[in-house]
This record gives sequence, structure tokens and C-alpha cells, in this order.
Amino acid sequence: MSHITEEIRNITGSLPQGVRLVAVSKFHPESSIEEAYAAGQRVFGESHAQELSRKYGNLPKDIEWHFIGHLQTNKVKQIAPYVAMIHAVDSMKLLREIDKQAAKAGRVIPCLLQIHVAREETKFGFTPDECRAMAEEGEWKALQHVRISGLMCMASNTDDMEQVRAEFHQAYELFLELKAGAFAQAPYFTERSWGMSHDYPIALEEGSTLIRVGSRIFGERMY
Ligand SMILES: *Cc1c(COP(=O)(O)O)cnc(C)c1O
Repeated sequence: MSHITEEIRNITGSLPQGVRLVAVSKFHPESSIEEAYAAGQRVFGESHAQELSRKYGNLPKDIEWHFIGHLQTNKVKQIAPYVAMIHAVDSMKLLREIDKQAAKAGRVIPCLLQIHVAREETKFGFTPDECRAMAEEGEWKALQHVRISGLMCMASNTDDMEQVRAEFHQAYELFLELKAGAFAQAPYFTERSWGMSHDYPIALEEGSTLIRVGSRIFGERMY
């Protein structure tokens, strides 16, 4: 059994009910994706619009492509016709552009709001207070072609697993607060996208429903 097949089986075999694996294939060749596909994996994550479009064009059409990275507004148009979910929405401006391009493509695109919980200054995302304000302000309700399906976050890049746990926990608490509050009338607000190769077991304990795992499956990326 290849390493890719083995890891796909190990990870998916250990997931609780209702949790899905997003296999993060950015910077990895199409042959690696085909191997994971043969092992039964159908959900893949990419973080560059151009690379994603090329892979979308060349690979089986029943793959569910998730855009997981920082998305620039001028790249939305390229992926709107087919992308299954956009994980890292970090501004109203981006959400409006996704709505506009989804309308042109005749689609409704599920989106997640990226929450900044990590210590690092450089990470994108809404602070919890910005997210609350945006949810309560309510402009999103008028956007007919996006569906805010939940939250996404990245923990600090640290070996301190208690720090990581506290950050996932903060995101989970915010999710529950919004689910009971501004999103109480939104039954589709259900997803929590957190957990990567080194921290997904902790993310699962802190309520993740989508784990985004790359290097553990596909090996180290060549940046
Ligand atoms: C690259 C990436 C991942 C996967 O990271 P690994 O450590 O390789 O598992 C997950 N989420 C985002 C947003 C990424 O950019």
C-alpha cells in the first residue's frame, strides 16, 4: 500500500461521525491526487486559484474542491463556477465579490468565516469581535448566492499544544454563540474547519467538523 493510500485510510478510519477530511493537495502533483482519489478520497483543498483551476480541469469531475487559503477578490471569478466551499472569507468585501461571481455562475457557494485566534500578527481573519459585529449587522442575509456555513481558523504555529487547544476552543465557543445568536435562523451554519497535520487530533476534541490535512498525507511541500 502506498503512503498516500495508507494515510487516507488511517485518518478517515479514525474520524468521528460527521467529520470530513479535506486532503490538502496544494503544490502536490495531480498524480498524488489521483492516488488519493483511488483510495476513495473525494474532498481536496487548494490555496491558489490558478493551480486549482488547472487541477479542476484535469481531474475527475466528482471531486469536491475546497479553497482553503487567502483569496484575493480578483481571483474569485476564476473559481466561482465550480468551487465547492471557500474556507477563509475574511472581509465583507470578499463575501460580496463571491456573491456577485456566484450569481453570474448561477450558483450558491458555501463559505466559512475565518476567525483570527492565533497569536501571530500576520494571520488573516476577523477577530471574534469583528466577526460578531459583522454577523449582527446582517448585510450577509441579503446575499442570495453565498451561504455562510460556519467558521474556520488556524492555530498558532507552536509546539505548545495547550495554546493550540485554547485557540480552537475559543473558535468553538464563538461558533456556539453565533449559532444561538445571529445565525439562529440559519440551519446550514454547521461547519467548524480547524485542524491540520500536526494538530488535528486536538481540533477534533474541540469540535472540528472539517480537518485540513496536507503534509501528513502527501509529504512535505516544495515551496
Ligand atoms: C497548507 C494548509 C493546510 C495543511 O497544512 P499541513 O500542515 O500540510 O497539514 C491547512 N490549512 C491551510 C489554510 C493551509 O494553507
